[in-house]
Amino acid sequence: MLIVQKYGGTSVGGLDRIANVAERVARAKKEGNDLVVVVSAMSGETNKLIEYASYFSKTPSRREMDMLLSSGERVTAALLAIALEEMGVPAIAMTGRQAGIRTDASHTFARIEEIDPAAIQDEIKNGKVIVVAGFQGINEHGQVTTLGRGGSDLSAVAVAGALHADACEIYSDVDGVYTTDPRIEPKAKKMDFISYDEMLELASLGAKVLQSRSVELAKKLGVKIVAKSSFSEAEGTIIAKEQEGMEEVLVSGIALDKNQARVTLRKVVDRPGIAAEIFTVLANEQINVDMIIQNASSDGMTNMGFTIPQSELERAKKVIGGFNKDIGGMDFDENVCKVSVVGVGMRSHSGVAALAFSTLAKNNINIEMISTSEIKVSMIINEKYGELAVRTLHDAYQLDK
Ligand code: ADP
Ligand code: ASP
Ligand code: MG
Repeated sequence: MLIVQKYGGTSVGGLDRIANVAERVARAKKEGNDLVVVVSAMSGETNKLIEYASYFSKTPSRREMDMLLSSGERVTAALLAIALEEMGVPAIAMTGRQAGIRTDASHTFARIEEIDPAAIQDEIKNGKVIVVAGFQGINEHGQVTTLGRGGSDLSAVAVAGALHADACEIYSDVDGVYTTDPRIEPKAKKMDFISYDEMLELASLGAKVLQSRSVELAKKLGVKIVAKSSFSEAEGTIIAKEQEGMEEVLVSGIALDKNQARVTLRKVVDRPGIAAEIFTVLANEQINVDMIIQNASSDGMTNMGFTIPQSELERAKKVIGGFNKDIGGMDFDENVCKVSVVGVGMRSHSGVAALAFSTLAKNNINIEMISTSEIKVSMIINEKYGELAVRTLHDAYQLDK
């Protein structure tokens, strides 16, 4: 078998843990498999590098951020290859570029466009374990790019797809995908199986056990993912195509995203094209806008509210500042979070959203914004009630049963 394994930050969070990963890899190799191992930076490393940059600038160049952030994964890739060699397992570490990972030009959240697997395939033929530095690639101008936070998951799925691997195993500190973050709700239940679509919603709504783009790509390429723990031998969760009978599960999980900020623009001059202009400059800055609300206008003025990732707030302030002629005033609230209920069964059942709203109401939690799709209900609330909301919703939908 050809197996792609990905080890996240906690799994390579120290030298002893890298040694543990080396043992697991060596074991899979001895069982007769070919292995490509994708690694993250040591846990906390990427955040530390971001903080270093913020010492100098609130809005550092995205290109330089990629130069900086891609270094964390190189360190662990090389260390794991050294550890494997020392155990008598031939290994070679590769950067994203060396592994043939080509991306578009969007620094700090580049999309993978193509993988040229030739170099990896050559080294597999030489009998080596290939250790790929996750989270990074190269664009057509030869510049290093990174793939967005949690992006090593995407590296792993893309490599698995390009190599037509027999398995794509993603190892972290949890032994699978749970009905909600088990750190918030200890009663959360592990799922044996979850469909791409539900996982995609959970992941894009904050369940960071898998990066949402990796799930999107897995669905597109038909790569079956198994989410497992590097600290145990437990079975894990399979993420694959929806199966017959799944519609019977009404709600499969609750997600919490604390990386949210709300922007409110007051007294916006209400003329055709104003929304287009504002959201175009945000898009040009590659700021991902979510949950837009515009009030009915009065006296030719309107109010607009929307949410963005908290980490993009400084950039957003800078570009919206350019509209001061058209906007009466603006507020920014970082103390919000998004709590979401996800399930494919919502397509065919009513009352799911109503139960979410009444559950929060019973707990005196005010809902500031709402958005829904076929298979999710998301609510923006005050950040301090985020975890309470997760637990009470988990109870209300009886996810512990
Ligand atoms: P890694 O660093 O290995 O990529 P992450 O920290 O990105 O791992 O993801 C694992 C974490 O995801 C867990 O520690 C857990 O707290 C969190 N998590 C959030 N939602 C869920 C969920 N529904 N199921 C499992 N883990 C979840
Ligand atoms: N090190 C990167 C991050 O922390 C990528 C990853 O861990 O997947 O976001
Ligand atoms: Mg992760």
